[in-house]
Amino acid sequence: MTHKITLIPGDGIGPEITEAARRCIEATGVDISWEEKLAGETAREKLGSLLPEDTLDSVRKNRVALKGPITTPVGSGFRSVNVAIRQALGLYVCLRPIKSCPGARSHYKDIDLVVIRENSEDLYAGIEFQESSPEAKRIIEEIKECSKKEIRPDSGISIKPISRYASRRIVKFAFEYALSNNRKKVTAVHKANIMKFTDGLFLEVARDVAKDYEGRIAFEDMIVDNMAMQLVQRPHNFDVLVLPNLYGDIVSDLCAGLIGGLGVAPGANIGEQIAVFEAVHGSAPKYRGLNKVNPAAMILSGVLMLKYIEENNAAERLENAVREVIAEGKFVTYDLKPSSGDLTAVGTMEMADAIIKKISD
Ligand code: NAD
Repeated sequence: MTHKITLIPGDGIGPEITEAARRCIEATGVDISWEEKLAGETAREKLGSLLPEDTLDSVRKNRVALKGPITTPVGSGFRSVNVAIRQALGLYVCLRPIKSCPGARSHYKDIDLVVIRENSEDLYAGIEFQESSPEAKRIIEEIKECSKKEIRPDSGISIKPISRYASRRIVKFAFEYALSNNRKKVTAVHKANIMKFTDGLFLEVARDVAKDYEGRIAFEDMIVDNMAMQLVQRPHNFDVLVLPNLYGDIVSDLCAGLIGGLGVAPGANIGEQIAVFEAVHGSAPKYRGLNKVNPAAMILSGVLMLKYIEENNAAERLENAVREVIAEGKFVTYDLKPSSGDLTAVGTMEMADAIIKKISD
């Protein structure tokens, strides 16, 4: 069967790592017809839009996309093209498996946890009011009236909506994921002691959803600052983490640090019908076109994609090949060598070649 998949190269290092990932995925023998579409700076230059409707339509039609990172534009209508894509396609789950890669530079061994980040609301909803704008002034007045609290007149304002609906949907996803992936525990992460009506609501809903899984999946909750410390001290205590959007963003980078950095951290954005696979890292503009960065996070995002389209055998072979190349430590990029200045580091494409060779061996 031919899978039709949208390929979005993205900005900065995106074109190099998506090309490396495409070649590695094709080496598994899975039959894929790629539909290449633009988003980000390249799309603005060539098509006059950062996020062409044609790109979104392609993902809507194919339902699966592999996407390179996109630089957050300065001074455009978009806060972030990445956030806009997630919102436009209803991708409410951000799934980030965090699994140790023997050979990668890390203080820890045998980490195996999953970060599930709510992708649609919280401070990422994009509802903001600029300092001294008429809207900001109006809101400051309204708030003074409603809550009897003063906000300084020279304040910018960002709104943090957290709904019962979206909290239930993401926590339910976390429990269902735990069940179908043989996981044992879900930890809901929040700051409900301070933000009682937003994080407090998230926690209330999480506790309620957890009741449906009693006896099957354990549940606990943890305040986000404590979570940050516990993850550094005792990362093996955790299994599946479910978090509102902002904490999810920060904690997933922290977790990437536990397993050797952003070069090995894959991700997926998932909705009811559509999924877009992308690495946790960004477009690292300073490395653009240098054939230098690690393609593993992008290739492992491709592994998640292969599992999603039920090409499990290919997914397993590709994941094993990536892990073996990293464990051998020979044909790997600078970030996977014992020190950054290691002259034996290879480039992006050479590491991809080594992975392809492993698949074919
Ligand atoms: P970044 O993740 O692009 O890079 C931070 C640093 O991490 C790099 O300088 C590099 O040292 C390291 N790094 C990242 N990817 C690597 C790889 N594959 N191999 C080896 N090392 C790697 O973060 P940033 O510099 O904060 O952001 C750059 C741009 O990317 C910004 O415009 C940001 O908004 C955007 N961004 C996009 C996404 C996305 O597309 N999903 C995600 C995060 C950031």
